[in-house]
Amino acid sequence: MKNNILVINCGSSSVKFSLINVLTSQVLVAGIAEQLTSEQASITIKQKDNKQQSRLISPYDHLVAINFFVDTLNQLQLTSTINAIGHRVVHGGETYSAPALITKEVKQEINRLSTLAPLHNPANLLGIEATEQALGDLPQVAVFDTSFHQSMPKKAFLYALPYHLYEAHDIRKYGFHGTSHYFVANRAADLLNKPIKACNLISAHLGNGCSVTAIREGKSVDTSLGFTPLEGLMMGTRTGNIDPSIVFHLVEKLGYSLAQVNDLFNKESGLKGISMLSNDCRELEDAAKNGHEHAQLALDMFCYRAAKMIASFSVCFSRLDSLIFTGGIGENSSYIRKNIVEQLSLLNLQLNNEANLAMRFGKSGNIADSTSLSCWVIPTDEEAVIATQTNQLVIKETL
Ligand code: AMP
Repeated sequence: MKNNILVINCGSSSVKFSLINVLTSQVLVAGIAEQLTSEQASITIKQKDNKQQSRLISPYDHLVAINFFVDTLNQLQLTSTINAIGHRVVHGGETYSAPALITKEVKQEINRLSTLAPLHNPANLLGIEATEQALGDLPQVAVFDTSFHQSMPKKAFLYALPYHLYEAHDIRKYGFHGTSHYFVANRAADLLNKPIKACNLISAHLGNGCSVTAIREGKSVDTSLGFTPLEGLMMGTRTGNIDPSIVFHLVEKLGYSLAQVNDLFNKESGLKGISMLSNDCRELEDAAKNGHEHAQLALDMFCYRAAKMIASFSVCFSRLDSLIFTGGIGENSSYIRKNIVEQLSLLNLQLNNEANLAMRFGKSGNIADSTSLSCWVIPTDEEAVIATQTNQLVIKETL
């Protein structure tokens, strides 16, 4: 019986791999190839016994990285245990509200959707094609970051722009981090001991990218990331919400080109832009403790904006079961969680300080006081979702 799924997350200059046993959820081998397309390209592979090896690869492209990982699986005699391959694909547009078995038509659609995710979908497609070459006939499945949010109603996903821009050009909110929000919502349902269909949740994925999602009766009904992953919360290097007129001002009055504005909003803003120090939350917390005013300001803005977004999503519910924190910051920073939760007392949220301090480094638990709305810290596991959904779809299709 083949119980392992190879999960591949292919970015423009990196590929992450994990071989996951779907019966035990154990990661058997994991790997990451980084700085692809540059001469520093390297691959690191880690086995479940923590044995780790790293080496430079050449020529430094995605296919070489994938072949190297497949060779490692061959040496470990694991290739024959792979049932299917699951790929993270960033943009599924309105076409995909569920994972899809990859066919020629699906690849064409992922390619068509590249106009909406020019940095991500072409890289995802590259990963799919390289895996096809390396692993021949194994079934491949695409799991989309946008799928979970396809349940949003029109009033949540439309922008107040002329309607034809949606009809003719697909301009709308899509939302991202869907696999993560889906995972933590289902885990919260387990922890609350309730069916997911009875759960009303707000989940905050706070990492380098950040988003909040309103989940009513187990379905996404609103989310903060938008047409692209730039909208919404203040992030590591991204602005989140700003007045769109700032674009005209930067271009017309300050002489920026559109490419410079794009870089400014995506790479130079957020925590990094305000702190003028770093996009790394840990570094900012340390600096703030030592009196760095801009680091403190960046953290205060980050928390205020996150609390404001969470509070705004309370309009989606007549009753709320829980707030969830996940992502590198949400899972680990007791400081950020405290700062956010203290601004949400109107949602009947009160922190249990001891529990909050204890929840880090992969621990999961309720950090709220016993009289408060519950507030869970739940480490996300997008790879586990991709492995499970890939396995389920392949089993269904081959029955
Ligand atoms: P992610 O994009 O989900 O990997 O999250 C990356 C972010 O998580 C970075 O800003 C890190 O500084 C932050 N992070 C990771 N560990 C901690 C920690 N122990 N305390 C505060 N922030 C953390």
